[in-house]
Amino acid sequence: MSEVILARNEIIISGGAVNTPQILMLSGIGPKEDLKPLGIPVVLDLPGVGRNLHNHVAFFVNFFINDTDSQALNWATAMEYLLFRDGLMSGTGISEVTAIINSKYSNPAEDHPDLQYFFGGFLANCARTGQVGERVDPEKKDAKRSINIIPAVLHPQSRGYIKLKNTNPTEHPLIIPRYLSHPNDVATLVDGIKIAIAMTQTPSLQRYGFKLDDTPVKGCENLTFGCDAYWECAVRMQTGPENHQAGSCRMGPPGDHGAVVDPELRVYGIERLRVMDASVMPKVTSGNTNAPTIMIAEKGADMIKSTWFGRRIWDVWYKK
Ligand SMILES: Cc1cc2nc3c(=O)[nH]c(=O)nc-3n(C[C@H](O)[C@H](O)[C@H](O)COP(=O)(O)OP(=O)(O)OC[C@H]3O[C@@H](n4cnc5c(N)ncnc54)[C@H](O)[C@@H]3O)c2cc1C
Repeated sequence: MSEVILARNEIIISGGAVNTPQILMLSGIGPKEDLKPLGIPVVLDLPGVGRNLHNHVAFFVNFFINDTDSQALNWATAMEYLLFRDGLMSGTGISEVTAIINSKYSNPAEDHPDLQYFFGGFLANCARTGQVGERVDPEKKDAKRSINIIPAVLHPQSRGYIKLKNTNPTEHPLIIPRYLSHPNDVATLVDGIKIAIAMTQTPSLQRYGFKLDDTPVKGCENLTFGCDAYWECAVRMQTGPENHQAGSCRMGPPGDHGAVVDPELRVYGIERLRVMDASVMPKVTSGNTNAPTIMIAEKGADMIKSTWFGRRIWDVWYKK
């Protein structure tokens, strides 16, 4: 069943970097060579819709430290949290830490740093029975704690695209990310891995006995562990995309062939239609994308207010 809803002033699409291009294309706004084969009437041939998809891309480097998996959550830790908002349940391990630094390929005079580090591990896990003193995995008494250091490429040059699979709006579109298709992204990520390893050799982290997990990544066993060729293989075999998809309806100045929206987030060639979400970013931000997307929305809300509020004032004045 379909429903028709009419808008008096304008329509705003905020479906995110995957769904906004899908909605536009299903509405006949997009590259005509993608719409025609599906029988979608072309309202506007806008070649940039769905293109320029990109994301921060990472790799999980695993280390062991001199600590066993002893901190299990149990009824006492639950009480500690409920009564005092403290203890093991009050934190999320070292995922609370991040770092942003320059790889050897970055030019700090020209741009923001090109590597971000995420950290994983040191999380308390549930005990099987919830009894105090029980280990996370009683069978593995001496299992070492595992820590991930996760370098992510902040200025990816690889570009993918979103394409319709069919004309069914309830089905997901095709997401062709083409991660690491640009060699510079691979080189930056490998440099990020080496920096992560070097970081663990510092006296501060060696206090915890950081040791690189040298289990070869599946598919890279034929290469000497730790050489550049090995890491290049590893990042391709175990690519860790972030959740920071952006750019698939990018903003650009008038005359920019691949731009979908103008600097006021209005879709080129279609009146009273704006896009407000991460898809308008010409290049993904140099860090997590949630706050920047909220900023896009705040700015967009101001632009809408100035368009329509300003116009109403003008209308009132004119009618007088
Ligand atoms: C698992 C995960 C973890 C993340 N962690 C972080 C983090 O820690 N920090 C950070 O900064 N960023 C994080 N991000 C990224 C951040 O959430 C996104 O960059 C941000 O939410 C993008 O906002 P958006 O408005 O573009 O899209 P979205 O937040 O995806 O909003 C799009 C909305 O449109 C709706 N929608 C889509 N299609 C339709 C349709 N056809 N009809 C009706 N509604 C529709 C969706 O349901 C959704 O609510 C994370 C993302 C994911 C997926």
